[in-house]
Formats: sequence, C-alpha cells, structure tokens
Amino acid sequence: MGLFLVRVALYIDGTLDPYPEGAPPMSNAQTRHSKVLIIGSGPAGYTAAVYASRAMLEPVLIQGIQPGGQLTITTDVENWPGDTSVMGPDLMVRMEAHAREMGTEIIADHINRLDLGVRPFMAHADSGTTYTADALILATGAQAKWLGLPSEEHFKGFGVSACATCDGFFYRGKEVVVIGGGNTAVEEALFLTNFASKVTLVHRRDSLRAEKILQNRLFNNPKVEVVWDHTVEEVVGADNPRGVEGVVVKHVTSGDTTTIPCAGFFVAIGHAPASELVKDQLETHMGGYVVTKADSTETSIPGVFAAGDLTDHEYRQAVTSAGMGCMAALEAERYLAAQEAETSLDAAE
Ligand code: FAD
Ligand code: NAP
Repeated sequence: MGLFLVRVALYIDGTLDPYPEGAPPMSNAQTRHSKVLIIGSGPAGYTAAVYASRAMLEPVLIQGIQPGGQLTITTDVENWPGDTSVMGPDLMVRMEAHAREMGTEIIADHINRLDLGVRPFMAHADSGTTYTADALILATGAQAKWLGLPSEEHFKGFGVSACATCDGFFYRGKEVVVIGGGNTAVEEALFLTNFASKVTLVHRRDSLRAEKILQNRLFNNPKVEVVWDHTVEEVVGADNPRGVEGVVVKHVTSGDTTTIPCAGFFVAIGHAPASELVKDQLETHMGGYVVTKADSTETSIPGVFAAGDLTDHEYRQAVTSAGMGCMAALEAERYLAAQEAETSLDAAE
C-alpha cells in the first residue's frame, strides 16, 4: 500500500506518469464498448483476460492504480506452481505480457463509478472515458487494513507504513515494529530484518496464524523479538520533523502498557475487499466480500462476475484468485453465448 500511496501522491504532485506501463487512457468523454470488461490487473484479472482472449471475446482490461495487484508489493513468492521461487513483481509482469500476447487490450485507467442497473453495463473512469460492456468481470482484489488510530493516521508516510517492501529500505540500522500475526506480518518482519537492527513483532494472541514454514524462519531469526498478547494503542513521535519514535502497546489481559522504541511501524493486520464500487449494487457479506453463487463466480446480477480476493474471505491466494479468474471468463463466455442465442431466437420470431 505504501507504493500505492506514493503513486497516488506523485500522480497528484504531477511528478509521475500515472500510466507508465499500459496504454494511455483515451481522451476525455469517450465511450468504449467491449463484450467483456475486466476490472483489475492482479492474478484474477490477468487470468480472466487470458481465457477471455482465447475465447475470442476481445476483452478490455482496466489495470487500476496498482498494475499487477498485491503481489507487486512483495518479494519472493514460493507457492506459485511451476516456480520454486519467483519475485512477485516479475510474476505479474509475465502475467500481463501473457494476457497482452493473447490479445487483451490492457488500459491503464481507474474506474470510479459503476452502473450495473443498465445494459450494457457502464464503468466510468478517471480519464473521463466511459467503458461499456455486455459482461463484466470484477477482479478488484483487496487493500491493506489499518488499525484506525488517530496517531497512526498522523504518522502515515512519516514512519507508519503498510508495505515493508516499499519502505523497509528507509530503516537501515534502525529498530522497527510490525503488528499482525498472519502470513503478511511474518513476511514483512522477515523482510525488514534485511535492513533493521531489530524487528519486534507485536501480536494480539499467543500464537500466529502464519504458515508454519514462515513461523520457523521468524523464530530462528536472531533479529526478531515477538511480543505476544499485546495490542498497539498509540504511535508516538516527534513533529518537527515529523517521525515515529515508538509505539505504546497494551497487554490484552493485564492492561499494562509499555512503549517500544522504534523508527518505523508496519501495519500488517490483513486486507479488506476492494468492493467500494459495488457495495450498494451487489450482494456482499463478511465485511464487504462480493457474494457469488456456489462453485461459480456469478454475482447477484446476471452478466456480472466476481473473482479473486474481492470475493474470497477464506483462501486469498494468488493461485486461487487465478483459478477464479479462469472460471469468470468461462462463465462470461457461456453467458454471452446464451444472450446471443436468445437474441437470434427473438429476431427469428
Ligand atoms: P489483487 O492482486 O488485489 O489486484 C487487484 C487489482 O484491482 C489491482 O490491479 C488494482 O489496481 C485493481 N483495482 C482495484 N480497484 C480498481 C478500480 N476501481 N478500477 C480499476 N482497477 C482497480 N498470495 C500467494 O499465493 N502467495 C504469496 O506469496 C503471497 N504473498 C503476498 C504478500 C503480500 C505482501 C500480500 C499483500 C499478499 C500476498 N499474497 C500472496 C496474496 C495475493 O497477493 C492475493 O491473493 C492476490 O494478489 C489476489 O489477486 P486478485 O487478482 O484478486 O487481486
Ligand atoms: P490475515 O491472514 O487475515 O491475518 C491478519 C492478522 O492480523 C491476524 O493475525 C490477526 O489476528 C491480526 N489482526 C487483525 N486485525 C487486527 C487488529 N485490529 N489489531 C491487531 N491485530 C489484528 O491477513 P494477511 O496476513 O494479510 O493475509 C491475507 C491473505 O493473504 C491470507 O489468506 C494469506 O494466506 C495470504 N498471504 C499469503 C502469503 C503466502 O502464501 N506466503 C503471504 C501473504 C499473504 P488474529 O490472528 O488474532 O485474527
């Protein structure tokens, strides 16, 4: 997410071309129609694009503000079948190239409003273009969660981060704190040991939910200390210049508080689905995940399919997202074929 914020900041600042990789969006107030529109460029979106292209549906894919999705902010991915270890950003570059090679039109743009109550569906983009489509594949993934503390907000970008890969370099020789107990927290903590003099992982329980292999690496790393059964209550620091100096942690049962000195505080407490665009139009559950029919990517609106972390509160893996992207494209193909058959029948009558 740090990268995301930097991109947005530089884009607003005018010092970064917001569309460095994909084709530039079309000029203002154009309309662009496709049979299948895919929103999102993570494993789900790119896999859907490969399948939809091979079905000759000539899909258009909108990349969003994080081309390549969440894997672009991590380092080694060790559970992508076929690669013992692959760098997340490299894998996503390959997926993009694959989708492009199969014939997907990939556009660097961001959708700010969707209208699912009309046919064709309408997707309004930051560029001013309105993308219309007969079938829609939503693959907008997930975004990092924050603790919601005012002090966390105050120091965001000044020592508080949700992306070790993006910001870890700034903490060479310094002490940092990571909060969370899942795969992300443990991976972030391990990555930070490459730079920091000490990494303290704070977790609210007495066991981690991260994979055992990651836990072993964490516990065997001499730079890491784990503080169990504590929550973070406040981030403390200076204002001139603004910077983090420590975090106040509280024991979950005794309520005792302690301040852990640190220059950087990394929040790794999970991800929430990026369902803002559809939360009032599609059925959602479990904190915003888009509901799909059993064994399917069909949503509550026919012709709208959802794949990947946007709909998956359980597995949230690259490979499962890719699998759902495949399902969404195959289901979109069947849906369009059925629509076409119906139209031909109506015309014949
Ligand atoms: P995402 O990868 O989240 O991509 C979402 C896409 O939607 C982005 O391209 C974004 O730009 C786009 N988007 C969002 N909103 C809009 C909009 N309004 N308009 C246009 N586009 C939009 N999984 C593993 O299997 N192995 C790992 O080793 C692993 N490591 C991880 C490490 C980290 C630090 C993190 C955060 C996650 C990791 N994961 C890993 C989980 C994995 O990254 C996700 O499960 C996977 O990326 C989800 O894919 P997705 O396609 O659903 O969405
Ligand atoms: P996660 O698995 O949901 O874990 C979130 C962690 O943060 C949990 O330990 C949780 O504590 C803690 N937490 C949540 N809210 C908190 C709060 N308000 N205060 C303090 N702690 C809080 O999230 P994730 O680690 O980001 O992983 C997301 C998904 O991506 C998972 O499916 C994961 O497997 C996948 N992923 C995979 C890899 C990999 O395969 N190598 C790497 C990264 C991510 P509790 O444990 O008490 O609930």
